[in-house]
Amino acid sequence: MKKIAIQGIPYDLKSSFLRGPALAPPLIRQSFHSEAYNSYAENGMNIASELIEDKGDFSIKKYEEIEEIALRHLNQGYRLLTLGGDHSISFPLLKAYAKHYDGIHILHIDAHGDLYDEFEGDPYSHACPFARIMENELASRLVQIGIRALNPHQWEQIERFGVETIEMNNLDMNRLPEFDQPVYISMDIDALDPAFAPGVSHQEAGGLSSREVLHIIQSLKVPVIGADIVEFNPPRDVSGITAAVCGKLMKEILSKMIEQ
Ligand code: MN
Ligand code: MN
Repeated sequence: MKKIAIQGIPYDLKSSFLRGPALAPPLIRQSFHSEAYNSYAENGMNIASELIEDKGDFSIKKYEEIEEIALRHLNQGYRLLTLGGDHSISFPLLKAYAKHYDGIHILHIDAHGDLYDEFEGDPYSHACPFARIMENELASRLVQIGIRALNPHQWEQIERFGVETIEMNNLDMNRLPEFDQPVYISMDIDALDPAFAPGVSHQEAGGLSSREVLHIIQSLKVPVIGADIVEFNPPRDVSGITAAVCGKLMKEILSKMIEQ
C-alpha cells in the first residue's frame, strides 16, 4: 500500500476577504497530536501508523511551487494529505494528482461552489479552484456537498461543467451520493456550520454539523487517494474549537486513507 505524506501549505495570498489560513497547518497538527485525544479513529484504526509520514510545512513564495511540492511527493510514491492554506491550493494539488491518476473523482465539501470563472480579477482566487480543475479536465467527476452560497454565475458553471452539486437545503443524509471508484476529498472547513467551526473567513450559517461531515467521510465505500483540509483561519477561532474539528477530521480522513 502507498504510504501517506502529510504536507502543510501555509498559503493564503488568494483569499478574497481575509488573510489567516496560512497560520493553520501547525495548529491543526497540534490538535491532531494533542494528548487530549488517543490515536484511534472511529473505525478502530490506529493513526499513529508507520504508513504516515509528516513532511512538515513548505513556505511558498510563488503559487506554482504548490504543484511542484505535491508532484515531488507523488513521484516518491506517496498519497497526500495536504493541510492548507486557502482553497486556491486545490487547483495546483489536482494538477499534480492528474499526472499520476486518470479520471479523478472529487468529493468537495464546502459552503461555496468555488466555481467562479474569475474573482476580483484573479482566475486563481480561492473562489475559483473548481472552475480551473474542471476546465483543465483534471477530474472526471465533481460532487459538491454542503453548498449554500450559489449565485446565477455559479449555477451556469455547474451546468457547464456537469457538477453534481448538493445544496445544503436539499441534503438528505440518508441518500448521499455513491462513488464507484477512488476519490479525492477536498474539505473546506467552512462547510461546517459556524457554530461548529467559527474559525473560517466566510462564516456561512446553516451548515453541516461535525457529525454530518464525519458521516459523509466515514460512509465512503471506495479508497481515498488524497485529501486536503483548507480554509481554517486561526485568528477567527474561538477557544480552539475549530482547530479541534480540524484535528478530528484529519484523523478520520487519515484512517479512511489507511483503511483501504
Ligand atoms: Mn472553498
Ligand atoms: Mn468555502
